Amino acid sequence: MLTLAAKPVAEKIRKSVQERSAAFLVRHHRAPKLSVVLVGTDPASVIYTRKKGEAAIACGMEHETITLPVTSTPVEVKNVIDRLNADPRVDGILIQRPLPKGFREEEVLYWVAPEKDVDAFHPVNTGRLALGLPCFQPCTPAGVMELLKHYEVQPAGKLACVIGRSSIVGKPMAAMLLQADATVLHCHSRTPNLRAISSQADIVVVAAGKPGLIDSSYVREGAVVVDVGIHRNAEGKVVGDVVFDDVARKASAMTPVPGGVGPMTIAVLLQNTIWAAEERSR
Ligand code: NAD
Repeated sequence: MLTLAAKPVAEKIRKSVQERSAAFLVRHHRAPKLSVVLVGTDPASVIYTRKKGEAAIACGMEHETITLPVTSTPVEVKNVIDRLNADPRVDGILIQRPLPKGFREEEVLYWVAPEKDVDAFHPVNTGRLALGLPCFQPCTPAGVMELLKHYEVQPAGKLACVIGRSSIVGKPMAAMLLQADATVLHCHSRTPNLRAISSQADIVVVAAGKPGLIDSSYVREGAVVVDVGIHRNAEGKVVGDVVFDDVARKASAMTPVPGGVGPMTIAVLLQNTIWAAEERSR
């Protein structure tokens, strides 16, 4: 069984981003810049934003995290985003989620200008993805595609099953696999008899957010299994949606948790940011 480890893939992407950032600096006399907006002090969000900032700086980018009080109104936050949208020195903008209560996601999605939307959440970018046009890549599913590419798992002509239909993982994942010429079975919480469907697939991507949902009875012999789920179990161990040891007996290749999909997300974010900088300065 081949372990689809993120480390070599994420390192390769970061190295390429570093080289492109250095070239951008020489050409434009400034580093590409990523701005992150954090509303409140949710401990997990504070850690995620810090990691994103450190990763950007390590790749030779400029970075700022703008922290706003949890009591900020949507208008106050939007004003900050508007200022960043208008700032020619800011290439990528990211609003750290979850936002406090009172923010309507269907409004927030439109705030970051599409050309600076490095999370790829703006409906213009999700629409472009659905149409197969060049666009920012939603970070987590694009990280999965990078893993598959690196380990020479070819989706073309394969039967792929995506479990989960969130806007940030499941839906763009299904769109990307379709774009890569897989035949896509898209399952979710209302899918009857998930096991009968997923166990037909050559590639199974699990993003259900349910620890241990997928055991070996859900996958066929020789399948490639990608686990997007991240959870901390009762013993404090990080686990995924897939029962790794059980499924590993049947799968031909699998992502570990941790060290599989997780590290790919920030790597793709950096890739999107340098792409934003290059495209904006054309
Ligand atoms: P979500 O809760 O928004 O969506 C979960 C999806 O799974 C839903 O569409 C739901 O219909 C489906 N689902 C739930 N139970 C199911 C079941 N029993 N059978 C079939 N489908 C089921 O979650 P999300 O934001 O898409 O995240 C999914 C998981 O991925 C979470 O564990 C999350 O922490 C993790 N995640 C990891 C990364 C990363 O960087 N590795 C990034 C984003 C999310």
